[in-house]
Amino acid sequence: MENNLKNKVFSRDGFTCQKCNFIDLSASDLEAHHITPKVFGGSDILDNLVTLCSICHNYAPDSEKLFLKYLDEKIDGTILNTFRYSQYSISRKTKTGMKSSFAKGRHIAKAPKGYKIVNKMLIPDENSNEIKQIFQEFLDSSISLTQLAKKSNMTPTGMKKLLRNTTYLGKVRFDNKESDGQHEAILDQQLFGQVQQKIKQLGWS
Ligand SMILES: [Zn+2]
Repeated sequence: MENNLKNKVFSRDGFTCQKCNFIDLSASDLEAHHITPKVFGGSDILDNLVTLCSICHNYAPDSEKLFLKYLDEKIDGTILNTFRYSQYSISRKTKTGMKSSFAKGRHIAKAPKGYKIVNKMLIPDENSNEIKQIFQEFLDSSISLTQLAKKSNMTPTGMKKLLRNTTYLGKVRFDNKESDGQHEAILDQQLFGQVQQKIKQLGWS
């Protein structure tokens, strides 16, 4: 199937698996599934295609009737996350090797603030300067987490996560392991380290 059509299917469905609601803006873990399979005369048209994540795609029944029932039975995609990650590590071992799997950014579901996803890669966007300012302000001032979050239109929890996000150092996290990513760092190690130090002093959980 041509990528153009695939992209049309994914964007129509909001890059969301239509069974488990898993969202993957990089589309690396999504499949365009045929409702009527090609062997039964189904064609490559938008109306015959539906977005599924690779797991829901794996288990999808072939017959159209069973498939529509399958599609109707919604499940909570977060429950599948355990399997997603083990699936990644399997494909990592068997197919691509860890580095290139990271490089393809297949684990990236959503770009953190300061980055956008272009061709499945993280690229610093127009907010990347704001990230530096946030880290600097947090370090230099006694601004509260709530205030800092407010300034960037974020929740305190989101801000907490942002201030600890090693993506900004060019790292990728995967299966609880960290490794060098292929994307550009927004922050230098020193500023990031000082912020982690301050977080520690503040005793954040
Ligand atoms: Zn799914």
